[in-house]
Amino acid sequence: MTKNVPELFGSMVFNDEVMKERLPKDIYKALQKTIADGLHLQLDVANVVAAAMKDWAIEKGATHFTHWFQPMTGVTAEKHDSFISPEPGGKVIMEFSGKELVKGEPDASSFPSGGLRATFEARGYTAWDPTSYAFIKDDTLCIPTAFCSYSGEALDKKTPLLRSMQALDKQAVRVLRLFGNTDVKRVITTVGPEQEYFLIDQSVYDKRPDLIYTGRTLFGAKPPKGQELEDHYFGTIKPRVSEYMKELDEELWKLGILAKTKHNEVAPAQHELAPVFSTTNIATDHNQLTMEMMKTVAGRHGMACLLHEKPFAGVNGSGKHNNWSISTDTGANLLEPGATPSQNAQFLLFLTAVIKAVDDYQELLRLSVASAGNDHRLGANEAPPAIMSVFLGDELSDVVDSIEKGVDYHDKEKTLMSIGATVLPHIPKDTTDRNRTSPFAFTGNKFEFRSLGSTASISGPNVILNTIVAESLSEFADELEKAEDFDSALDKLLRRELVAHKRIIFNGNGYSEEWVEEAERRGLSNLKSTVDALPVFIQDKTIELFTKNKVYTESEICSRYEILLENYYKTINIEAMTLISMAKKDIMGAALEYQYTLAEVFNAKQATGVAVTAKTEEKMLAKAASLTEALAERLDKLEADVDKVDESADALEIAKYYREVIFSDMSSLREVIDDLEVVIPSDIWPYPTYGEMLYSI
Ligand code: ADP
Ligand code: MG
Repeated sequence: MTKNVPELFGSMVFNDEVMKERLPKDIYKALQKTIADGLHLQLDVANVVAAAMKDWAIEKGATHFTHWFQPMTGVTAEKHDSFISPEPGGKVIMEFSGKELVKGEPDASSFPSGGLRATFEARGYTAWDPTSYAFIKDDTLCIPTAFCSYSGEALDKKTPLLRSMQALDKQAVRVLRLFGNTDVKRVITTVGPEQEYFLIDQSVYDKRPDLIYTGRTLFGAKPPKGQELEDHYFGTIKPRVSEYMKELDEELWKLGILAKTKHNEVAPAQHELAPVFSTTNIATDHNQLTMEMMKTVAGRHGMACLLHEKPFAGVNGSGKHNNWSISTDTGANLLEPGATPSQNAQFLLFLTAVIKAVDDYQELLRLSVASAGNDHRLGANEAPPAIMSVFLGDELSDVVDSIEKGVDYHDKEKTLMSIGATVLPHIPKDTTDRNRTSPFAFTGNKFEFRSLGSTASISGPNVILNTIVAESLSEFADELEKAEDFDSALDKLLRRELVAHKRIIFNGNGYSEEWVEEAERRGLSNLKSTVDALPVFIQDKTIELFTKNKVYTESEICSRYEILLENYYKTINIEAMTLISMAKKDIMGAALEYQYTLAEVFNAKQATGVAVTAKTEEKMLAKAASLTEALAERLDKLEADVDKVDESADALEIAKYYREVIFSDMSSLREVIDDLEVVIPSDIWPYPTYGEMLYSI
């Protein structure tokens, strides 16, 4: 059956085309203007839009609507209301008002707020973000909304993202004006997030409480075959996975999500999906929907989709590459080297702004990808290290070098070009050698931020990226606006900033031990874990950055810091509780049963009176007994240490305790469990093994 993809695409989205078709002209125009200018929607306009939306949604089979939002839990939230409204005579009609479209009032008291919202004012409100289209999912009209407290503090991940985009817009437009550009009205950032995931059969998933409760396996011995043959990456996609991917594409296309590329990844059972890039806030909404759809569709195919950063030890974990660029409303990519020297001067200024931002705020960028799950990846030779650096590639590095030294740049054809602000070099497009080991790589016309974990919303890293680059641009604009001679001021600025931030540029192997040492010599920061990184959030420098650029207020920063810390230790606590319960009941049970079997064989042999040895059984029993002993001891220690948590302590102290004590207790308990798994026969071992899970499809 051939499918009409263009017809399918966006069929569940109340997009521009539908609005144009269904809204009266004046209403359509008013809505467009509100969107373009970022204004509030007038109620009379909202009423008409709501009515049209409802009619459209009902035609598509919807019965409910919801304000779809992204609280700080990291997942999306929705509370469904039906369109029904009672009529005399026991009938109902389907209604949806402008007020219901524009604003909702979910009870906010059960969402994390980090102390922002005292319980006596538990109500928060959701407000439509008209820059993100409404869509239908599961017979429900979903209205993308921002979520705030009544005093206007952001309680979600969308509000700061929109604010950070505004900050960057403002500063980038200032810079463009300096280059004589008067056409551009808005500058936006664009993102294409590549999403990695694992698929396993539902039957094995259901038998692993650790996967169910924590998203990752808490133990499991290495399977005989891992990823060493490198035969899975880009390998032929198995029919069952292929069927899944097809349906996933279709579901995403219906929602207007530009699912583009799909392939097998490095680890067995690991795959990737990449969309065509879009505006950052849309890309963020779409990535949340993509993750949700990945799970939903997997369920329909008898599979479970794992989005955790490290579902299985010993094989690669999952990340999310955040391809990021800056674009104008006139369609120009500001990180694209241009054809003319003046375009290149502008490009170099934006490039320098990014380099400066990454260097100045390397710790904040590191923090933006910190989570309990991602701690398993960063610095673990499969993902970039926790050290931030920028990869530019040879060509661009040469250009930067020559600017810095104030000497002429020779390009590959050995053409001599004089470096002054007016005659900047012609920069050839994308000859960059892809460096897979860099956390932040320039890839021709965009940067690829590669440190993100697979589960997290991309909002956080992009809030920080947008804001730090906005800050660089604002400093540049301040300086250049005052200059009498723009060209020489630009020349001076570029040289000075590139010299000052050169240390962040690194084109070598980011996975090597030498880089860790070299980075230390360069004075780059290396925050190894989430607890090391989180305090950066409340440093004066961070607070100043965010308040100056109007992205977070100080109290929003403090609340987010609390939430991140709590989230971190609660995650490890759930893991510890899960591991305890699995080890105590079924693993201990299996260890006892195994010893009993061995003892029985041993006794039976002895009882025969025949002169046979029972040395093997003796050895096996001794080993099983000592492992069981170790299991009991380490389990006791973990349990006791969990009990010792001082809940009245400061959140950072609790988080540190979980990292230093609980996490390492869990690792040492895991070691014994993995050793036991290797010796205990499969019919006694209570859980699916790594081999059974990784090769379940
Ligand atoms: P690859 O990195 O696999 O070679 P591409 O470079 O084509 O593939 O793209 C990777 C991702 O980067 C895709 O999601 C793509 O849409 C995105 N991307 C491409 N251009 C931009 C841009 N200007 N801004 C943001 N993302 C982009
Ligand atoms: Mg990739």
